Amino acid sequence: MPSKIEWTDETWNPVTGCTPISPGCDHCYAERMAKRLAGRYGYPKDEPFKVTCHEDKMNEPFGWKKPKRVFVCSMGDLFHPDVEPWQQYRIFKNAYDLRNRHTFIFLTKRPIRMLRFITGSFPPNPFLPMSGNSTLTGFTGSSSEARPALEPDPCTRIGSDR
Ligand code: SF4
Repeated sequence: MPSKIEWTDETWNPVTGCTPISPGCDHCYAERMAKRLAGRYGYPKDEPFKVTCHEDKMNEPFGWKKPKRVFVCSMGDLFHPDVEPWQQYRIFKNAYDLRNRHTFIFLTKRPIRMLRFITGSFPPNPFLPMSGNSTLTGFTGSSSEARPALEPDPCTRIGSDR
């Protein structure tokens, strides 16, 4: 859906839901929104912020004909342990297939899990040879578990040509 966030044009949420991992989660916008949407748009009624795969959203970016900056999983964390690896793989594969049309932005508070995924959990890994317009970015957030893995640069861009 179109976004009001200045650095993105669209949000794409094939997976929603999460659980807090750091003090930075104390005022989680996604959790508040999910509670408002409980029982609608695929958000479970009893537990709206439960990690949930939305199959109907999986191919949504293919329908956007003009180039967009796409914030992936703004309503959760794609690298939450409850997200199945094959679901992560499909999302990355779609981003790879659309790499010359859109810019995909992946944010996570679980960068160690993201790094494990992109550095070889899956043969074949569509991510490492990525080129063109796709930018895949991980922020450390405030997770004490994750921070040492990415210092000194809290922002890592992988597989991008810019
Ligand atoms: S990791 Fe992100 S989505 Fe998950 S609870 Fe924390 S702020 Fe919310």
